[in-house]
Amino acid sequence: MISLSKKVCLLGDFAVGKTSLVRRFVYDLFDDKYLSTIGVKVSRKVIVLPRKDDIVELTLMLWDLTSTAEFDSVRISYLRGASGAILVCDLTRPATLDVLPGHLAELRQLNPAATFVLAANKADLIERHELTEAQVAQRAADLGIPYFITSAKTGANVEAAFRRLGKSIIGEDRE
Ligand code: GDP
Ligand code: MG
Repeated sequence: MISLSKKVCLLGDFAVGKTSLVRRFVYDLFDDKYLSTIGVKVSRKVIVLPRKDDIVELTLMLWDLTSTAEFDSVRISYLRGASGAILVCDLTRPATLDVLPGHLAELRQLNPAATFVLAANKADLIERHELTEAQVAQRAADLGIPYFITSAKTGANVEAAFRRLGKSIIGEDRE
């Protein structure tokens, strides 16, 4: 068994569900109140993934940043050293999808080997959706990254999205 520890960032607009996705993945909890993130919060979760004839115990260090800190110097240290990121958009707000290529480019600039997963969140708010899965799929294809339609509220696809990122990070995502 190999043990690795990797830094992962949550990237996306205000209130898309970054903090909620981490909370669901790490603690299996959800809160309808807005969970204002103060500065940077780092959560830790260990996942076990197969790799070749071995098993990798991957510790994900999940960095979650408050939106107010996005504009100050914290941002570069937030991104530095990240092996990958979950790019999060909100299916009820199309503009939140449009900012994701910029986030991807920003991290790629610091780490050309960074890998990404797109999480189109709030799948449960079906009647309020203003983005279709086809639009999300197209954007993910343009960026060359996998996507998941997630809900931090129900938990749908949350684990799958983080595990997929973990696989990409350890280099076991090539089919
Ligand atoms: P952040 O600013 O990206 O960290 O967003 P938060 O995680 O704080 O979530 C913003 C708001 O959206 C909060 O009121 C959450 O309860 C809500 N929220 C987050 N994810 C979901 C989801 O999957 N479904 C629903 N219905 N609400 C969500
Ligand atoms: Mg937050």
